[in-house]
Amino acid sequence: MMEPIPGESKKRVRAKPATKREMSQFHTDEYVDFLHRITPENAHQFSKEQSKYNVGDDCPIFDGLFEYCSISAGGSMEGAARLSRDKCDIAVNWAGGLHHAKKAEASGFCYVNDIVLGILELLRYHQRVLYIDIDVHHGDGVEEAFYTTDRVMTASFHKYGEFFPGTGEVRDNGIGKGKGYAVNVPLRDGITDENYRSIFQPVMTRIIDFYQPGAIVLQCGADSLSGDRLGSFNLSMRGHAACVQFIKSFNLPLLLLGGGGYTVKSVSRTWAYETGLAAGVELRGGKLLLAVWPKLTIGHAQ
Ligand SMILES: [Zn+2]
Repeated sequence: MMEPIPGESKKRVRAKPATKREMSQFHTDEYVDFLHRITPENAHQFSKEQSKYNVGDDCPIFDGLFEYCSISAGGSMEGAARLSRDKCDIAVNWAGGLHHAKKAEASGFCYVNDIVLGILELLRYHQRVLYIDIDVHHGDGVEEAFYTTDRVMTASFHKYGEFFPGTGEVRDNGIGKGKGYAVNVPLRDGITDENYRSIFQPVMTRIIDFYQPGAIVLQCGADSLSGDRLGSFNLSMRGHAACVQFIKSFNLPLLLLGGGGYTVKSVSRTWAYETGLAAGVELRGGKLLLAVWPKLTIGHAQ
């Protein structure tokens, strides 16, 4: 996690991995316990639970699964806590952004929803938190978690139409007290930087003016980039990063998170570039990147 503190300095923080109890602020105890106990070796004893919790196919069991979830969630929670205590202006956790995970179900490579846990932490200090999702997939897990409240507004820009997870229709906008506090922008294949910007900027300006959030969480899934193995948008690195730059310009406490991204070279390049933007540095080429990199000391949650 990297955090600029006053005076443009950057700092890497080693976040404490999230505990089972912390994960249970959103997830059920039974589901968290299952994630804690299951291993590739004992998986055969849990066949009933595997289908109940949707673990096995898209969400495989691997060595260190629980530790991975703890690190991802701990990074987002620590970032949120530091933002709330005014210890930084921007916190970054590229190991987070796992937006599909549900209260008692894994989904789309996501097991523990670090984003929901981070937002819950922000809600201890802020009356209203805005969540923005630029992953190519709908941010369904986060939307569902806050669908009935006006204390979190969610805005997801995603491919829609015969595409995972299948939700995020434009008319889905919250229920009860949450009515009007979920925004969905369904998009088609091949959207370009210019078209994306022409939707993203006015929509976000309107939302931020209207909602006046105390803090913003931006999920920067990089599967919306051109050439992604799963996504089919046509965004360049700069077009993607323009979203980060634009949201940063509102000068609100900002938690930047990772997410999807299946063409690894583009993911690493884009998140490195966006880390630079967060720190107020524009990275232009390999040489400059190398010159700046040691000062950025970006890292994962641990
Ligand atoms: Zn995705």
